[in-house]
Amino acid sequence: MQNYNAPLDDINFLLNDVLKLEDVLKLTKYKDLSGSLINAVLDEASKFASKRLSPLNVIGDKQGSHSKDSVTTTPEGFKEAYEQFVKNGWNSVPFSTEAGGQGLPWMVSTAISEMWSGANFAFALCPLLTQGAVELLENHGSAAQKEKYLRKLVSGEWTGTMCLTESAAGSDIGAVRTVAKKEGDKYLIKGQKIFITFGDHDYTDNIIHMVLARCEDAPEGIKGISLFIVPKALEDGSKNDIRVISIEQKLGIHGSPTAVLNFGDENGAVGYLVGEENHGIKYMFTMMNNARLAVGVEGIAIAEDSLQKAESFAAERVQGGLPIAKYPDVKRMLITIRSQTEAMRALSYYIGKCIDLSRNHEDEAVKEKYKEITDILIPVLKANATDMGFFMSSESMQVFGGVGYVEDYGIAQNLRDSRIAMIYEGTNGIQAMDLVKRKIIINDGRLFESLSVEVFELVQGSVFEDVVKDAIGKLVNATSEIRSMDDKKAEFKAYYYTRLFGVVMGGVMMAMSDKAIGADESGFFKLKRRTIKFYMDFLLPEVNYLHEIVVR
Ligand SMILES: Cc1cc2nc3c(=O)[nH]c(=O)nc-3n(C[C@H](O)[C@H](O)[C@H](O)COP(=O)(O)OP(=O)(O)OC[C@H]3O[C@@H](n4cnc5c(N)ncnc54)[C@H](O)[C@@H]3O)c2cc1C
Repeated sequence: MQNYNAPLDDINFLLNDVLKLEDVLKLTKYKDLSGSLINAVLDEASKFASKRLSPLNVIGDKQGSHSKDSVTTTPEGFKEAYEQFVKNGWNSVPFSTEAGGQGLPWMVSTAISEMWSGANFAFALCPLLTQGAVELLENHGSAAQKEKYLRKLVSGEWTGTMCLTESAAGSDIGAVRTVAKKEGDKYLIKGQKIFITFGDHDYTDNIIHMVLARCEDAPEGIKGISLFIVPKALEDGSKNDIRVISIEQKLGIHGSPTAVLNFGDENGAVGYLVGEENHGIKYMFTMMNNARLAVGVEGIAIAEDSLQKAESFAAERVQGGLPIAKYPDVKRMLITIRSQTEAMRALSYYIGKCIDLSRNHEDEAVKEKYKEITDILIPVLKANATDMGFFMSSESMQVFGGVGYVEDYGIAQNLRDSRIAMIYEGTNGIQAMDLVKRKIIINDGRLFESLSVEVFELVQGSVFEDVVKDAIGKLVNATSEIRSMDDKKAEFKAYYYTRLFGVVMGGVMMAMSDKAIGADESGFFKLKRRTIKFYMDFLLPEVNYLHEIVVR
């Protein structure tokens, strides 16, 4: 079976030539980093992904994670690979050096996390969640909490989870019923959380659960939710009152233990409040925003792996005396997958850059502008890139024909694994609501204004400037239409609008990529130019009907 290989040519091209990583490396925060150091890190990461993680991908799928008597076992080789992952410092890539991290820009760490998910989607989920927990603590934890938990989470000695979902509280987080009773300087937590990714495992001695619960006398709904740190092991080494009820049997990502956890069946699980009571949602959103970007990247990663599998198969499979890769319809499928994947990849690194600028630029106005752009683009990426990951895995299966449908080539696993990304971290329907109701309609459209000014500038000078500017114009028009609709109509159209947004942003990224190729027509660039041209001719025109649907 074709192993995953990180697409380093495209990653380097996008980071350096298209999206100008140098702008980020100029910031004081990154003054000690050089382009050559980053290239070396990317190179090492790609080796770890293809040699260490990718070979475990099928084993994870076949064996799955299991729990017996509240003890969870991950698939053969996962624990050792995690230990190596931590030892090599991969867990700490984007975090501040003060917290023991490597302090690399988000732009770069986004590319690296793509490699982990492309090589082994299920394995990569554990660091993904830990990363969210670190972000949350860095932003909202007290000095004492940072002292106690941050370094170990950053290094990967401990892992983190995100415990929101309950049987009656999924998209509606305000319906959380887990309770927290204050006892001195701590709280006792009681309730059941379901679907908790890496909620239990055999990698580490401790797991730090970030749990949403409701304090006594808290207001109903979202305004009464608080956030607690609930460690699996307490400071004296004893076990906290947390029980693994089961590990879910599910369609895909079998290697990732998805746990049902009971908190406080006996006396109550000991938890520590983060920030203030009833402000938990605000804090959790820090974690969710981070995770939403990472989940979007999962879609890109799995589409890339599916592309590699399909290309290699199509070069070898002979029908009618020819390798099927020679047939125009198979070429169409392959270039569709490549084009969709590369457009979304560029968008994810662009968001990574916006995060870096929003956090570390010296000028407050620039910071604010890139924060607004990040906020608006995260749901766009999450929804579009995860839809794309699933649909492009399906397209790859089509390239395989019948053998794609059986398990031998790994494409069936990709189809199964990729499906979850459209559901968790807020379903793609909820992303569309977030975009329309929280990012577009409110704030007098200021967030969109920042983005539209920027994207008109980004495509300036491209040979595709006119066609992409026309598409941006349609997005601007659809945006003002959606802002003028009543709530129900706007919600009904939100999916189409989000899709329109994604296709336009893909066009912007592809136009920028074309500009960066310049006159070079060799090897990688020749294929890149064809891929861009395909996007403009066959994918960008979707904007026309999506626009019509939204404004009708
Ligand atoms: C494998 C796996 C791993 C997971 N990992 C975690 C984890 O680590 N931590 C965690 O807390 N949770 C986790 N989840 C839970 C996941 O985030 C939820 O399943 C998801 O948010 C959807 O919630 P739900 O399943 O209750 O669906 P529901 O909320 O019941 O939604 C069902 C459908 O209704 C739609 N819908 C619901 N409300 C609205 C609305 N207001 N407007 C429009 N449409 C709406 C949804 O978009 C969806 O299509 C995981 C789930 C799975 C399957």
